[in-house]
Amino acid sequence: MPKQLTFEEASAIVMQHIKARKWDKTNSTRGIAVSLSLEANELLEYFQWHDESFGSKEDMASELADILIYAIQFADRYEIDIPSAIAKKIEKQNKKYPVEIFEIEDEKERNKAWLEAKKNYKKDTTL
Ligand SMILES: [Mg+2]
Repeated sequence: MPKQLTFEEASAIVMQHIKARKWDKTNSTRGIAVSLSLEANELLEYFQWHDESFGSKEDMASELADILIYAIQFADRYEIDIPSAIAKKIEKQNKKYPVEIFEIEDEKERNKAWLEAKKNYKKDTTL
């Protein structure tokens, strides 16, 4: 079985591939953002007319890889550390959607609490 890559190793492989082709110099940042969105839509296409994907796990992995490859290129442009950005975002999400809400058994009460938390979060932030 091949060695499991870390995110840093996978990112390095992506950027080595990109830089060897000089795409880091020739591809516009806008083009990368557009491509990221297009790849996300290619993943969505597998669900276009079905609740379940008609693609295989390999198909899903391939599209997800496309999305992440563009995300890594995009992050490189802005010197964004993706794992740190994810951790920061999850921290915000924890404040926006306190876990206690999801422990409420009654669905109606849970949805009410969720909506309330969402409304309150908007009031308390500039985001
Ligand atoms: Mg694709």
